[in-house]
Amino acid sequence: ATLSAESEVDKKQVFDGDEAALLVRELRNNFDSGKTKSYEWRISQLQAISKMLEEKENEIIDALHKDVSKPRLEAYITEVFQAKTSCNEALQELKHWMKPEKVSTSITTFPSSAEIVSEPLGVVLIISTWNFPFSLSLDPVIGAISAGNTVVLKPSEIAPATSSLLANFLETYLDNSAVRVVEGAVPETTALLDQKWDKILYTGSARVGRIVMAAAAKHLTPVILELGGKCPAVVDSNINLQVTARRIIAGKWACNSGQACISVDYIITRKDFAPTLIAALKEELENFFGKDPIESKDMSRIVSPTQFARLVKLLDEDKASDKIVLGGQRDEKKLKIAPTILLDVPEEAMVMQEEIFGPILPIITVDNIEDSYGIIKSRPKPLAAYLFTNNEQLKKDYVDKISSGGMLINDAVVHVVATRGLPFGGVEESGMGCYHGKFSFDSFSHKKAVLYKGFDSDPDIRYPPYTPEKAKM
Ligand code: NAD
Repeated sequence: ATLSAESEVDKKQVFDGDEAALLVRELRNNFDSGKTKSYEWRISQLQAISKMLEEKENEIIDALHKDVSKPRLEAYITEVFQAKTSCNEALQELKHWMKPEKVSTSITTFPSSAEIVSEPLGVVLIISTWNFPFSLSLDPVIGAISAGNTVVLKPSEIAPATSSLLANFLETYLDNSAVRVVEGAVPETTALLDQKWDKILYTGSARVGRIVMAAAAKHLTPVILELGGKCPAVVDSNINLQVTARRIIAGKWACNSGQACISVDYIITRKDFAPTLIAALKEELENFFGKDPIESKDMSRIVSPTQFARLVKLLDEDKASDKIVLGGQRDEKKLKIAPTILLDVPEEAMVMQEEIFGPILPIITVDNIEDSYGIIKSRPKPLAAYLFTNNEQLKKDYVDKISSGGMLINDAVVHVVATRGLPFGGVEESGMGCYHGKFSFDSFSHKKAVLYKGFDSDPDIRYPPYTPEKAKM
């Protein structure tokens, strides 16, 4: 199980195209040996992941704290618990997922039987990002292993502590002849992307998503792109105000300081209701983070000086700076920005043009709540769309009229943890394909259509010569 220790790949210092080619060849040979196909191998690897999650919980949380100063409980819930839930589900359901699915056949092939067989794809590449650097790496690995593939994980260089921890722990706990981690940034990822894979799952920006897809196209490799976008929350006045405010805060500032792909990017609400909503958000923010939120240990910092500078630029732009109704304070040394609300920034402001990915929340006001549909539809389709209301007709209309990767009514973000039964993925600019639970298994499998027949005689019409008599049949 420790093939990598003696592997030729590990003996070299620099990970370049040659190394990447060698690595893929090794994994493909090991895949072709058939070892990763068995139920026993898959279960043994899932059990090893489960053991790692139990034994290394504290180290994982420490690394997440180092990388993004994630509060410990937040790190546990959003990363470790999330990975445990996925792993447990796979352990419990794998036998069932692997079973061929019987389907009925048509009269044209009578007598026959048919089934859909899920077979592993081969060697898959997972490229992940920094904001949930542990769960967004391990969750797809769990899916790829469950489906019986060999896999290379390339974690994000922007979360170096978690990247190195994943490299160490996956090497220690898993079968390295089938599961490998390559650490690195653009050169390493480019070397990996030059190779032929059987599937690539990429999590990150749409800009790099396009690079990944172009590289995959050269080999006709299918891709799952988990991208982002501006996720709207429409807030009606017919709501439980306190619950709404608390849930929006949890889905924005208490979720990695807004550095989450499905965090609330902007709110749309009625003009006459906006002051009430802002007052409720202000009150609950103070309850959660105190009077000086920059000092709060319950809010993560911004990941890097570059991201901090980008966010400050969004706030300081002329079109936005005089629209701040709450917050705006920042501390460059601590890389922290206070929860900040902007009211009615113009459409052309940068903060309404790009995905915010930070603790800034613009509120756009409309005369009628239904006017929000036009605003959302004028933008690329988001990864998630939220609605807060008690109005049943509004809920129906929202589900019917708004297209988004996922949708959540009367809460934010938590649909991502409902792993059982719900797929996670984007649409158009927010991504393609999906994973989580059974959807991961399916995404990393080929669905082979198998028809079984005997040697019973066929109707004459099937075979030439196609005589006029046969045409009349
Ligand atoms: P990014 O695209 O810059 O980086 C992600 C990965 O791509 C990293 O592993 C990085 O090494 C690699 N990479 C970066 N530049 C590359 C290049 N030129 N060629 C090859 N590989 C390259 O992502 P980011 O900007 O750090 O992440 C933020 C984005 O990710 C946001 O848009 C967010 O919404 C999205 N996101 C999506 C999800 C999801 O599940 N859908 C989850 C988290 C983040």
